[in-house]
Amino acid sequence: MDEETHPPEEPAAEAVVCARCGTAAEGGTVPLTWLSAVEDGRRLHFCEACARLHIRAIESRLDSLWW
Ligand SMILES: [Zn+2]
Repeated sequence: MDEETHPPEEPAAEAVVCARCGTAAEGGTVPLTWLSAVEDGRRLHFCEACARLHIRAIESRLDSLWW
């Protein structure tokens, strides 16, 4: 018992996969460049490329409130 530096995250039973194109993230964790969104009560992840497309959709939805 030397190193117990892992933060108490909920165990990821499944690999992190892009909800749009199916690309799997390495290491089983969500990269900072990925986008996380909650839709219909489920957490979805989008890879960097898909996040840009997704963000554009969010942009148009939020209109000028944000941008
Ligand atoms: Zn993707």
